[in-house]
Amino acid sequence: MILLSRYDYIIAGGGASGLSLLHHILQSPLRDKSILVVDKTRKEQNDRTWCFWEAGKNPFESIVYRQWQYVDFYSANFSKTLDLAPYAYKMIRGIDFYEYVQAQASQSDRVHFLQADVQAIEDTENGAVLRTDVGNFEADWVFSSIRADNEKAQAKGHHYLLQHFKGWVIRTPAPFFNPEQATLMDFRIAQNGDCRFMYVLPINERTALVEYTLFSADLLSEETYDQALMDYLRSFYQLDDYEIEHEEFGIIPMTDMPYPSAGGKFIVNIGTAGGITKPSTGYTFTRIQQDSQRMVQRLSKGESPQRHINRWQQRFKIYDSTLLNVMVHNFHPSSDVFTHLFRNNPPQRVFRFLDEQTNFWEEIQVANSVPKLPFVRGLTKALIK
Ligand SMILES: Cc1cc2nc3c(=O)[nH]c(=O)nc-3n(C[C@H](O)[C@H](O)[C@H](O)COP(=O)(O)OP(=O)(O)OC[C@H]3O[C@@H](n4cnc5c(N)ncnc54)[C@H](O)[C@@H]3O)c2cc1C
Repeated sequence: MILLSRYDYIIAGGGASGLSLLHHILQSPLRDKSILVVDKTRKEQNDRTWCFWEAGKNPFESIVYRQWQYVDFYSANFSKTLDLAPYAYKMIRGIDFYEYVQAQASQSDRVHFLQADVQAIEDTENGAVLRTDVGNFEADWVFSSIRADNEKAQAKGHHYLLQHFKGWVIRTPAPFFNPEQATLMDFRIAQNGDCRFMYVLPINERTALVEYTLFSADLLSEETYDQALMDYLRSFYQLDDYEIEHEEFGIIPMTDMPYPSAGGKFIVNIGTAGGITKPSTGYTFTRIQQDSQRMVQRLSKGESPQRHINRWQQRFKIYDSTLLNVMVHNFHPSSDVFTHLFRNNPPQRVFRFLDEQTNFWEEIQVANSVPKLPFVRGLTKALIK
């Protein structure tokens, strides 16, 4: 493959948002544009699993690994099996996603992949230039999911919580799990002043992904995550006999700092680097698909793909900051906040709210479902920031 010196589009970072954008372009009238995808790795590892809820189907339906209509919620004083219909909670494995989009792109001789380290991206007079360790490339538009090294420092004056998690895919010697039912959140574990929960996603009767998730300022030692997973399986499942088939560790920023949508006149930040991650939950995958579709629609009409959030929709940013305030300042135990949320609302309303699709009346219902005083304090702080 001979690389060009100029492309229509360059995608810097071929992870979830880069390859999603590529997929949406290849499904659109823009499919014949010349595209360079640059990533420092080859994306050959199953480095993460994406879970998300949705009613209906998504562009990657054929690679959905498992899905569940019924999920359990547990806390110290409330347990319920939630029927999510018409939603389902779905799981896509990173490796399946990377291979799927790479195979799709291999049908086109207009898409080139390059393994390189991106060092800088700068505007030029009529586009942008990508500087890498193997050379420079220009394009009309550069889409970048490469996050700044000093992201946390940039968040000064804003919350920057970490959602960190360790997961094990375990295999039991005999059938043990019900593959029809997952555990979405289990707060019956020690909270230690943070927000800590487990989730269990059974893949079949003998295999499940069990994950320990925390929203907190600092990471734990590796042994602490492992011990928590072991203790949980022993205490709540009476499980000691299993094999660990795969491990996953991840950190997602939960921050209300404004990520710049534009990295320059012809540079668009995408994915987590573009502020697409939902600050209060860390969910990103579905939002990446919506953002990719929006950019492709605008480009197809000859418009700028840069993002402009309408003012009314900005209210969700205030709700995100409110919840972050409640968690960071410990105005109320997070496990109790989530208990109120799932006890007093149908899960469909919670999902619509987190998807930023509720109307104002539904938002008042959600606000009424959680403890008032801590949220008034959280909201006040969010408004005067
Ligand atoms: C382990 C894990 C599990 C997650 N699970 C979920 C989930 O269940 N649901 C959900 O909605 N969200 C989840 N997320 C959050 C989010 O969806 C993912 O982080 C998602 O991958 C973000 O997409 P992205 O394109 O912004 O970043 P990435 O997918 O990380 O892509 C960025 C790419 O840029 C490349 N890159 C970085 N620096 C350079 C450089 N200098 N030069 C060249 N290439 C570079 C990287 O190699 C990477 O491929 C998870 C995150 C992690 C880490």
